[in-house]
Amino acid sequence: MSVSQQPAQKLQQVDAWRLAKQGAVRELLLNPALLPRLAEFDITLSEPLNCSLHYRQNEGGEARLTAGFEGKMSVQCQHCLEPVALNIDSVSEFALLADDDSDTPEGLEPAICGRDGLNLQALIEDELLLLVPQSPTHPVGECEAPKPQNVVDDELLQPDEKPNPFAALAALKQQGKGSGSETD
Ligand SMILES: [Zn+2]
Repeated sequence: MSVSQQPAQKLQQVDAWRLAKQGAVRELLLNPALLPRLAEFDITLSEPLNCSLHYRQNEGGEARLTAGFEGKMSVQCQHCLEPVALNIDSVSEFALLADDDSDTPEGLEPAICGRDGLNLQALIEDELLLLVPQSPTHPVGECEAPKPQNVVDDELLQPDEKPNPFAALAALKQQGKGSGSETD
């Protein structure tokens, strides 16, 4: 495709119905900061995300959106708890729907485009979240689970088990009061 890519400044609500009528193609280069919800799931985009959006109408005049994503993300390995890199390379087919109540045609994902337009940010974030495996790990044998942290735990417990020297001193001073101090 020869459409030039420009870094998007922000993701706006778009009139997807109009874009579908036009058969519009949008190539976006998305800075990770534009997709803040990913961070809530410990997902980091390691590089700007290539996003290709093709709006169109099918033979029946129904609005469709083909969305392609390419990039790299980093998630926490569920084995060693270190970051693991995942390639993003996917294409999804959406049916534009006026509201939640509309039926989604089989084989397509719903893209709700109501009065406020289509929320591209939510759509893209949802798609990327779907791409993350349930339990991402490094390839088998390439990482080790962290060692048990018993030693550290013992050290952390100790201060609570030992009497606080300052508390003991305060108790001693308290005892001394009222019994009459002969050194004064
Ligand atoms: Zn790992």
